[in-house]
Amino acid sequence: MKRKVLLIYTGGTIGMEKDYETGSLRAFDFGNIFQKIPEMKLIECEISVYPFKKPLDSSDMGPTEWKMIAKHIGKNYDHYDGFLILHGTDTMSYSASALSFMLKNLKKPVILTGSQLPIGDLRTDAKENLLTSLYYASLYENNEAVIQEVAVYFEYKLLRGNRTLKYSAEFFDAYQTPNYPILGQSGVHLNVMKDNLWRSKTNGKFEVDTHVSQDVLFWRIFPGMHLNHFTEIPKVKVLVLQVFGSGTIFNTEKTLQTLQALRDQGTEIVVISQCVSGGISFGKYSNSNIFTKIGAISGNDITAESAITKAMHLLNNPKYEGGFAENFVKNICGEVSE
Ligand code: ASP
Repeated sequence: MKRKVLLIYTGGTIGMEKDYETGSLRAFDFGNIFQKIPEMKLIECEISVYPFKKPLDSSDMGPTEWKMIAKHIGKNYDHYDGFLILHGTDTMSYSASALSFMLKNLKKPVILTGSQLPIGDLRTDAKENLLTSLYYASLYENNEAVIQEVAVYFEYKLLRGNRTLKYSAEFFDAYQTPNYPILGQSGVHLNVMKDNLWRSKTNGKFEVDTHVSQDVLFWRIFPGMHLNHFTEIPKVKVLVLQVFGSGTIFNTEKTLQTLQALRDQGTEIVVISQCVSGGISFGKYSNSNIFTKIGAISGNDITAESAITKAMHLLNNPKYEGGFAENFVKNICGEVSE
């Protein structure tokens, strides 16, 4: 039986080709993808293409597009065995994280991929990324999808989407999940590390929840920063604060007062680390005690991309019982270690 994959094309470098006369990049008509990559026809699955009307650079993508994609997957969930999203690389980790929270109790693969060089380039990485992603998006065993989560496939590696970060603007190997092992690797064989795959603990039905609140701000501290800037933060519901190492900040009375004032105005403070690997551990150094005192939330080893999109999804979301902090510390879909 041929598996059915829905390919959603959003834009990015992957859908571009070089105009050899002018030397510049231009988006090509994605309806012609089968002519561009005839090998796609050789893959043992049936592919339908849903291109965005106007291909976007991923820096122009955000909640509107996440919702659109999530709803489109929801509408087509029963008709396809897997979903492949072609996406610009710059914000792919944000979209992958946001989608992982929106697509609840996923039992089918949702794979995102893109490329560093356009599909029409002689040295392109687009072909391999696209073809192998199709394999992963249609991989079934005993009538059950092998991948049941939102994943990113890039340069021979399959990664948990909400653990990824774009680590290189230069190398083909652009993504990493420093706090989670890889889900699969493509070599001569297509390998899957089954122990690393996400399996929902609840037996709930697949559901799309596109709730997003944009009352979230991200701030990175640095030595010598003026704390007065914190008092200039507009009233925001969630501040994701990226601090040093395992959760340290300037140990001054002024810091305590400033952050306490934010808490008093009702701002939730989520603390994450500037290190890409490892995470927050309140209490390890006395310079983290301020966070315990003001009741800040530890983001543990979550990425910035995931912390931001998780906060956006949870804030004022009527589908979640309990408070923001209580829900934020939970591992919803593999985004954080337990
Ligand atoms: N600027 C592009 C984008 O993110 C980069 C890429 O696709 O690689 O849409």
